Amino acid sequence: MKKKSTYLLIISLVFIIGLTSVLTACGANGGNDADASKPSNPTGDDNREPLTVEHITTKMLAGTRDETEVHRFVTNREGPRIVIVGGTHGDEKAGWSAALKLVKILDSEEKRRDDMCGEILIIPQVNINADKAGKRYLSTVDGVAYSDFNRSFPNGRESGAAAATIKISDAVIEIIETFEPDYVVDLHESRKSWEDGYLGNSVISDNEPFFIEDMLINYNDNYIEEGEPDFINQPAVKNGSFSKYFSARYPDKVVFTIETNREYAGGTDTIALSVRVRQQLNILNSMFDFAWHPERIEA
Ligand SMILES: [Zn+2]
Repeated sequence: MKKKSTYLLIISLVFIIGLTSVLTACGANGGNDADASKPSNPTGDDNREPLTVEHITTKMLAGTRDETEVHRFVTNREGPRIVIVGGTHGDEKAGWSAALKLVKILDSEEKRRDDMCGEILIIPQVNINADKAGKRYLSTVDGVAYSDFNRSFPNGRESGAAAATIKISDAVIEIIETFEPDYVVDLHESRKSWEDGYLGNSVISDNEPFFIEDMLINYNDNYIEEGEPDFINQPAVKNGSFSKYFSARYPDKVVFTIETNREYAGGTDTIALSVRVRQQLNILNSMFDFAWHPERIEA
């Protein structure tokens, strides 16, 4: 109970810091402030339109056993088109938990950042049956064969990929390509940290290294909690993965995977889910700091 309220406090503080540190209008040349931790000149905001956000919920693969919700947040301001996908691997709970939480945050006038702009499309639980089961993937659902969803995309799709799983990846590709994104992010977890030779506490990307480096420096300097390791970039996208496909599809866009460390040992995750969810949300906050303030990217 005590722990929970501490995390809530930390998350609230992060949002307050976020709100006070990023005051320029999206896409506008508010102050050319390269330091995200430093408040911009609030007088630069006087002519900014108040933010309005429309939340549109639809279903992917409606009426099928893989039906899952798709949330689109449309603001009244020009800005980037951001896609966030969670739940590719059902046992990587912080990914889809963070995505579900972000939907609630963006839905709340009090909780969402008022520097938001453009559009965000979120598929929180893309691999819904695996997510509900808390498994990486299920080999069968209702007697139908499934396989690892993150090896079912074109560009190195594994030869044993199941038709039902490929159908989900086709549906995701169609939704994302129709949306025409500038940013594509998928939320995963690793069993250990990069310090142990795994992918945890990292993001994985093949393109836009300048943006990724800026985003990670911002995260490590301004969002990281005491005693937690830095997040690093590991350019290690896997064949047949969501990230491999969209990196190749959009070589000039920002495409990356978040991998929190769940410190999986003896059959359980030993780092609290709330910690990992906070890390996921704060990497996304670090991305928003630049995506919604392009004047800060000076590389
Ligand atoms: Zn994964």
